[in-house]
Amino acid sequence: MADLRLVVVGAGGRMGRALIRAIEEADGVTLAGALERPGSPALGRDAGVLAGLPALGVPVLDDPQAAFEGADGVLDFTAPESSVLHAGLAADAGLFHVIGTTGLSAEDEAALAAAAERTVLVKSGNMSLGVNLLAALVKRAAATLGPDFDIEIVEMHHRMKVDAPSGTALLLGRAAAEGRGVDLDERAVRGRDGITGARHAGDIGFAALRGGTVVGDHDVIFAGTSERLVLGHKAEDRMIFARGALRAAQWARGKAPGLYSMADVLGLKD
Ligand code: NAP
Repeated sequence: MADLRLVVVGAGGRMGRALIRAIEEADGVTLAGALERPGSPALGRDAGVLAGLPALGVPVLDDPQAAFEGADGVLDFTAPESSVLHAGLAADAGLFHVIGTTGLSAEDEAALAAAAERTVLVKSGNMSLGVNLLAALVKRAAATLGPDFDIEIVEMHHRMKVDAPSGTALLLGRAAAEGRGVDLDERAVRGRDGITGARHAGDIGFAALRGGTVVGDHDVIFAGTSERLVLGHKAEDRMIFARGALRAAQWARGKAPGLYSMADVLGLKD
């Protein structure tokens, strides 16, 4: 089978550079294009050099149509407005789209769902195998332990992260809510301050810590009477997300249009 030809959006970003390195270390995939926004200092530079590799002969462009020419799919870990824009453009060009961007609003999610009617779109707040398996375990634990156990989700990320709670914390919160058969939007409590009153039974709490260079730590705490279960994951290197995105891209080839998650890619749906 011919190599899968992939375009990296946000090629100069932390994840963009990790994606370029992951493509170079993997078999069966080729970097077909690299994009950054107009005015970016990365424009015109070689995408390989930008990622700390030898030159690959792929310049960073700001024209999606030119970068999408001859490609099969798009890898996009950027910002919400960028992912919404590129989802429409990828669907127009007939390319699948793997989105890792977090901090999406309900409006952004609706725009991505509309694009997914026309193309294959795989989206996840965390592309690592470990966290997606953790989500399946959290769902199971929430269903087994029931509402007598209070659920709190604690996450820590590097000082540059712009959104909170993390996309992964929300993914884990949704898994816990599903296990309990409740709607996360109705039960989530995001951060506490001042005289908050006692905890409401059934709430799912979130706490976000920021600092240093932490790639991503998540603990889901089930706090019962006289016992606590803690299920956690620690990401040590961004490459785990980049390799997960490549796995999603390989899975996406030839699938019917639709909105898919890493649980679909990894066969973790029950
Ligand atoms: P980052 O270093 O800020 O990189 C984002 C890149 O996207 C920047 O180079 C940015 O350019 C570029 N960009 C923004 N708008 C663009 C546009 N319209 N066209 C082209 N490029 C554009 O951030 P990061 O740490 O790589 O994280 C990126 C996203 O991935 C965040 O939402 C983060 O939470 C998420 N993430 C997800 C996972 C996962 O597994 N799902 C894992 C890690 C991170 P400028 O610098 O010019 O704005």
